[in-house]
Amino acid sequence: MDCQRKVEVWNVIEAVVAEEEGAFEEATTLLELEGVAVRMAAKIARRLEEAELKRRAEAAAAEEAVCPDCGTLCRHSQREQTSLESTQGELCYEQPKYYCRQCRRHFFPDGGGLGHLGPGHGHPGAGAEDRLGGDESE
Ligand SMILES: [Zn+2]
Repeated sequence: MDCQRKVEVWNVIEAVVAEEEGAFEEATTLLELEGVAVRMAAKIARRLEEAELKRRAEAAAAEEAVCPDCGTLCRHSQREQTSLESTQGELCYEQPKYYCRQCRRHFFPDGGGLGHLGPGHGHPGAGAEDRLGGDESE
């Protein structure tokens, strides 16, 4: 883990500790104390996951990306808010989105090989004409 990453992890922990400090000190039973500690751990886990997803999406956001369908080199068009369900709850981050003029569809480059299908997955109305890229592009 490089120094920058350690600082990011530390910042997440520090923010969560600051948010939960009052509840932690006010806990009067072991059960309450444990409840606060578990909530803090879940918050930290979710925010670390979000930060990593964001970092990978940024790393994948090149000026151009190859369409997984036809192989055309496409210009970056916009970013789209993405949400994923994880065991720690909903994770939100922005992902670059490309438009292929040949196929007349949007697609998303794989944000770090985590195997998700990108924005619009599971919402047929929202992404009906979008192409979900990444998984079969290798
Ligand atoms: Zn295409």
